[in-house]
Amino acid sequence: MAEMPQEAFVFPAEAPLSLYLHVPFCAAKCGYCSFYSRPPRGAAELDSWLEAVELEARLWRERAGRRIPLRTLYVGGGTPSLLPVPLWQRLLTVIEQNFDLTPLEEASVEANPSSLSEALLSLWEGSFFTRVSLGVQSLNDAELKTLGRLHDAGKALRAMERIAGSPRLTLSADLIFGVPGQTLRSWAASLKGVLAAGARHLSAYQLTLEPETPLGRTAPLLPDGYPFYRCAQWALPHKGFLQYEISSFSPPGAECRHNLAYWRQEDVLALGPAAWGYLQGRRYANPPTLEAYLDAARHGFPHPLAAGESLGDRDRAIEAAILALRTRWGIRRREFSARWGAGLLREIEGVMSQLPPRLVQSSGGNLALTPAGMRVGNAVWTELLML
Ligand code: SF4
Repeated sequence: MAEMPQEAFVFPAEAPLSLYLHVPFCAAKCGYCSFYSRPPRGAAELDSWLEAVELEARLWRERAGRRIPLRTLYVGGGTPSLLPVPLWQRLLTVIEQNFDLTPLEEASVEANPSSLSEALLSLWEGSFFTRVSLGVQSLNDAELKTLGRLHDAGKALRAMERIAGSPRLTLSADLIFGVPGQTLRSWAASLKGVLAAGARHLSAYQLTLEPETPLGRTAPLLPDGYPFYRCAQWALPHKGFLQYEISSFSPPGAECRHNLAYWRQEDVLALGPAAWGYLQGRRYANPPTLEAYLDAARHGFPHPLAAGESLGDRDRAIEAAILALRTRWGIRRREFSARWGAGLLREIEGVMSQLPPRLVQSSGGNLALTPAGMRVGNAVWTELLML
């Protein structure tokens, strides 16, 4: 990764931005997980993490010269619901003291059915959170066991019903397809179950195994993900859930505003170990482990943007095109051309025109992939990256 000149950085001006905060703790490691997280080594370590996050937030506030206005907030992990309630109370205060929540449109928090308590849900309900993203993954106990999850389907259903019944919080559910032993019938039952439990947003991910993960090391035979994905693409719109992004489905208006910030290349500030942010065209990474993060905190986070990459204009434009094509709105021709130039738009249109017509929809000034096109998105990105 390229070192970036720190002195060139000017904090984004007035516009509200998005904030991602990473909680690096999980009760145990799921068999397929390659995110950075691990079990906490006692209460003192949780405290150290929070103190470092508080320092990092305060330094950003000082750099900005004011409490930073937020449009969206996403507390992810890891397992944020693993943190004890008193720690959560302190975390809410840290957020409120360092960020201006007046323009907040959405605040999400990730939770696992195995660690979500009533006390925590009540705390979130009484705070600024608007949305809980629950790691359901499956409503089939055998699949949950294969994945190494700590909950069973009954626990996931009870958690979903509790969140969906909240007057303050909406429910988003994550599901995984392509699990060894999974059938189309069990996948359809999971989809149906989360909708019946009141989910207003659904993220569906294909199981991919990195070789260093416990499940990856056993190299199990994975079923072809294609029929599962097609099933979701066919069934969910019939229930009013449009596919608004490669992995995301919701009724219109219930899209995840925070994730849209990534796909629209908006500024995202990152807090916590292994968190990634995007500021003024620079993608940057926080220290990748808790130890490295705490060490950076001890030195006052001297180089907050040191790790990352600063893209040139053309690379940034191509990335903008790829990110836009992940969504159902695709590339807005007029905006794209004004921002990045008509010449590059023509080059992109040239690539897209080589694709079979059933993969591309071009209407009303937008250039987007059809559901069939989204199924082969990776091949399209490869073509665009070659420009
Ligand atoms: S709960 Fe999520 S972050 Fe934690 S180990 Fe499992 S998949 Fe990874």
